[in-house]
Amino acid sequence: MKNMKLTTKIFIGLISGIIVGMFLQGAPDIAQNYIKPFGTLFINMIKMIIVPLVFSSLVVGAASIGDPKSLGRIGGKTLVYYLVTTAIAVTIGLALAMILKPGAGLIIPVGDAAKSVETPSIINTLLNIIPRNPLKGLVDGNILQVIAFALFLGIGCTVLPEEKSAPFVNFFDSLAEIMYKITAFIMEVAPYGVFALIVPVVSQYGLDVLKPLSMVILAVYIGCILHAIITYSTAVKIFAKISPLKFFKGIAPAAVTAFSTTSSSGTLPVTIRSVRENLGVSEKISSFVLPLGATINMDGTALYQGVCALFLAQVYGIDLSVGQMMTIILTATLGSIGTAGVPGAGLIMLTLVLQSVGLPLEGLVLIAGIDRILDMARTSVNVIGDASCAIVIAATEGELETIEEEIGA
Ligand code: ASP
Repeated sequence: MKNMKLTTKIFIGLISGIIVGMFLQGAPDIAQNYIKPFGTLFINMIKMIIVPLVFSSLVVGAASIGDPKSLGRIGGKTLVYYLVTTAIAVTIGLALAMILKPGAGLIIPVGDAAKSVETPSIINTLLNIIPRNPLKGLVDGNILQVIAFALFLGIGCTVLPEEKSAPFVNFFDSLAEIMYKITAFIMEVAPYGVFALIVPVVSQYGLDVLKPLSMVILAVYIGCILHAIITYSTAVKIFAKISPLKFFKGIAPAAVTAFSTTSSSGTLPVTIRSVRENLGVSEKISSFVLPLGATINMDGTALYQGVCALFLAQVYGIDLSVGQMMTIILTATLGSIGTAGVPGAGLIMLTLVLQSVGLPLEGLVLIAGIDRILDMARTSVNVIGDASCAIVIAATEGELETIEEEIGA
């Protein structure tokens, strides 16, 4: 596997970052002032290429799928896969919170529910997907709008005669290639970036501060691992007939990057690269499925919301009915579509889930303190979920041979 060495280096960056962070626990200033800036530099570099990368690769992806019919077919399959796996993820989250009871032992009487947090409405998010001014969407980096506009352009290309659309598509193809080259360069420095991002987190939170909420962390981490092992392993095994171990190895660089950047959009360049180069998925499928997934597919986030909702219900001594649990599953699944792939977005969308079943919003404060740690796990799962979808769609679109060739099933 071509990327093996880089993966190892990124892991070394992560582990040494954790060790150094523990040493620096008494002196978090050093971590904040001297190490974190390098992490910020790494994130800035990744952010720099997101909009041009997503835009160009989606235009080319949608245009290269060919006839609008197969675009509709692939789009439909992708959407179903994303929604079903997300619903499974919330269910796992709820089940784990029921079993582990993270909220038991910490009882807070319900006060006046804090109304200060503004809840983004799903309807508004959905309506805003179509940009009134697409250039503004591009400049603002509004990823859903960027995706929508790129899809319209790509679909437009598919219905034009080729001699008319070719110059346009070629231009974006070339832009996308350049973006991948820049990604490759950024990946060279990823081990240092990951190191610099993880040191301040460990030095600030340490391991002790986590005690009161450690059960929530445990539930989210166990849930994420279970979801990856059960849901994704089964999906890639059944649909693409590849060994889950090889799948996880191939996607590891993206998972580690997601873990340290806590942004699936930010990780997108790495996800695309891992899925193409390590797992043998075509440009056609990956350019379509992955940018879409980084924005609308959030299994880890939905799982986390399931755990947190139940945790808060336990803390506030509120019994949730089966109907309320169903509402949580539905809201978290739909809400994940509107959750941006940026750090902390899941916490904001948690308000939506809490509100849907009348749980006090002030509970957010409890979660906020440990959100970064939960964000790391959930973002990794979000990204692995996108990759698993790319593999499954590729396999069902007749790319099984290329995948087998690349990773040796
Ligand atoms: N950070 C997550 C992501 O980028 C979103 C979230 O906050 O749950 O996928």
